[in-house]
Amino acid sequence: MADMIVTIRFYEELNYFLAEKYKKRRFETSFIKGTTVKALIEDLGIPHTEVDLILINGNSVSFSYKLKNGDRISVYPVFETFDISGLTKLREKPLRRIRFVADVHLGKLAAYLRILGFDTAYYNNFSDIEIVECSLRENRIILTRDRGILKRRAVTHGCYIRSHSPKIQLRESLNRFNLHKTAKPFSLCPRCNKVLIPVSKEKIMDQVPPLVFKTYGNFCRCPECHRVYWKGTHRENIIKLFKDIILFSNQ
Ligand SMILES: [Zn+2]
Repeated sequence: MADMIVTIRFYEELNYFLAEKYKKRRFETSFIKGTTVKALIEDLGIPHTEVDLILINGNSVSFSYKLKNGDRISVYPVFETFDISGLTKLREKPLRRIRFVADVHLGKLAAYLRILGFDTAYYNNFSDIEIVECSLRENRIILTRDRGILKRRAVTHGCYIRSHSPKIQLRESLNRFNLHKTAKPFSLCPRCNKVLIPVSKEKIMDQVPPLVFKTYGNFCRCPECHRVYWKGTHRENIIKLFKDIILFSNQ
């Protein structure tokens, strides 16, 4: 039987995942009858969670589309500015309240996200399967530096984190999900990911230094680890640090 051939081109940051010879150009590739476009894309190294739109011969198709000889395929990443309303987006409805589960390499990023108020599950001993199960059970977007996790069939929401630097990783996450305006700094315990609860001054008198007790009026406590948090200069410095990360870190 003659080879079945399609041509395919990947756009924008999807090129990051491709072998050098395939970057930023249309190329031919062969396939076996019955192959879905999703399988082809993942065989070429791109996790399906990074893809937002597939056009075949000019029409948008879903991941389950079965390839036909001669198809001309264009694959696009998650769009940030380009209006694609009217086309079939591959993600199901966006998650209403964005929540994350971070892989074992992203502990620092998880802590940063929690400080900004984004619910982020993270355990330093989570296996890949536990991460996927947590994502599905609790509607969490997987943040990972491991493409293998994103290629698992069950995964519906995920984001490949490119940078090694936690600060730039934070910026990547905020940009990808457009989160800059929805941060609620210091609403979660950075250690436990639990919502902090306001607590009256009297109740925490013996848990904070006397000067802090005298100086500050509003205190919160973590229901899990019982740590007490308050608005202080430390907190202002952290907010400034995050503003700097968001505004100035290199892409
Ligand atoms: Zn806590």
